[in-house]
Amino acid sequence: MRTYELVFVVDPRVSDEDVVAMTQEYKQMITAGGSQISKEESWGRRKLAYPIAKLNEGKYVLLGIESEGGKSSLPEVEHRMRQNDKILRYLTVRTDEDLKRAASRHPKTAGRAGRASPARAPPVPRAPLAPIPQPDPRRPPQGRSNAMARPRKVFYRRRKVCKFCADKIDYVDFKDVKLLQQFIPERSKILPRRISGTCARHQRLLQQAIKRARHLALIPFTTD
Ligand SMILES: [Zn+2]
Repeated sequence: MRTYELVFVVDPRVSDEDVVAMTQEYKQMITAGGSQISKEESWGRRKLAYPIAKLNEGKYVLLGIESEGGKSSLPEVEHRMRQNDKILRYLTVRTDEDLKRAASRHPKTAGRAGRASPARAPPVPRAPLAPIPQPDPRRPPQGRSNAMARPRKVFYRRRKVCKFCADKIDYVDFKDVKLLQQFIPERSKILPRRISGTCARHQRLLQQAIKRARHLALIPFTTD
């Protein structure tokens, strides 16, 4: 079964009743195409992270979609949304593969979808780097001559831990604006891995989530 999330942003001048009517129309198209609506959220009026068509606010609607057998009317729905000038932005994201991949990595936290749950155990920090063992001066060097044993330096550097690995987040949700914002300091570009310490896999997921959130004006592209 394929699952999708569809988020669209409606012109704030459209009345709430009309937003509901619009949503109803799209839901009907989706169910007529053989898919089910698994979730519906209205986020109401929200400030856009950047103006779209000179508007500073938008009304957000999220639909969860389940499609058996892969056939769905989503292309038609997207086509209609593209033509509707009351819709400022829309985005469909296929989620089943990413969630499955996340669940297989951490079976215990499956289905949490990256959301922080209050009952969660505190993140287990990784063991700090053990200093490189120094040769014991009391012990005679084994095998090698003294000239071969070069003095080794011990580097202490600030331990960088991938936040997502530590928190066992394997699905980076583009809707989790608070989480994403931690990785875009001064509200501009994505914090590089060498600074944030995020591992390569999670950085990739993070970048994708940030791009999706930017498209929906949940987070900005630049400061100005
Ligand atoms: Zn990681």
